[in-house]
Amino acid sequence: MLNISPIPAFDDNYIWLLRQEGRDLATVVDPGDEEPVIARLAAEGLTLGAILLTHHHGDHIGGVADLLARWPQARVYGPRDRRIRLVTDSVGEGDRIAPPGLATSFQVLAVHGHTATHIAYLADHPDAAGDVAAGNAANRSPAAGGRPPSAGTGGEISGAIGASAASGTSRNSGANGAASALGEGAGALFCGDTLFAAGCGRVFDGTFDQLAASLARIAALPPDTLLYCAHEYTLANLGFAAWVEPDSPALAARRARVEAERAVGQPTVPSSLAEELATNPFLRTTVPGVRAAAEAFAGQSLSTAAQVFTALRQWKDSRYD
Ligand SMILES: [Zn+2]
Repeated sequence: MLNISPIPAFDDNYIWLLRQEGRDLATVVDPGDEEPVIARLAAEGLTLGAILLTHHHGDHIGGVADLLARWPQARVYGPRDRRIRLVTDSVGEGDRIAPPGLATSFQVLAVHGHTATHIAYLADHPDAAGDVAAGNAANRSPAAGGRPPSAGTGGEISGAIGASAASGTSRNSGANGAASALGEGAGALFCGDTLFAAGCGRVFDGTFDQLAASLARIAALPPDTLLYCAHEYTLANLGFAAWVEPDSPALAARRARVEAERAVGQPTVPSSLAEELATNPFLRTTVPGVRAAAEAFAGQSLSTAAQVFTALRQWKDSRYD
């Protein structure tokens, strides 16, 4: 079983820690800072086997050099981009990787737009059969995991893929140390700054059309896919989502839950794709009400989903953020 847990970094980054249950070789995703990674691996007696990088921004790659100084044998997977040094395995669309120490392989997806070379990693579920879940996906108690993320060294929030007992769209368990059981077949997407819970990344050196296409591609994955983004932006994003769809019951319900989780310092990531499809305006560009809101901002009719996306992103950039 693959265990996944966040290592909080900076103000609102999550560095995802992956390890195969029973093994001591860990993989981290987008280590912008080496210190919390070193502390966490030391606390759990783990060795770094691999680093996955999604894009070149400093808060995603800043810790790589110092982690390699400590674990020089670690593999570093990343996009083909001269701005990212120290990559041992340059990867792109269609590649499949198998980080050392994990029984899970990952499909590389080109999801450009936030940057021109941004990629994402889609984890399979190789050991789904025969693994009876120890955790209970429905056992999510918002009050149970009361430690703030910054205090975490012990895997206080974790998820796991590869379990066969499941209840649909659940995410983390919320209980200290309890791995939750996710649906058989549920994949995990490490999407960096492309898609955020209830939002998406800004367009830097990619294009709006690229980001719209990347989000459409993510939207077409199985709805039980869990989305592990790199920032805790959910509550702020839900505020903008409510500008777009002020009367949405699904949004109101999600906001209430997220507020309760943040009040006790719990991560609100990962989320399920199903939840994003119901509440994330950037994945809802074909919904008539979302399109109408985007047209009201743009002051003109918008004929394609990419145009609706661009108007929403520019609306958020210029009026909300
Ligand atoms: Zn970024």
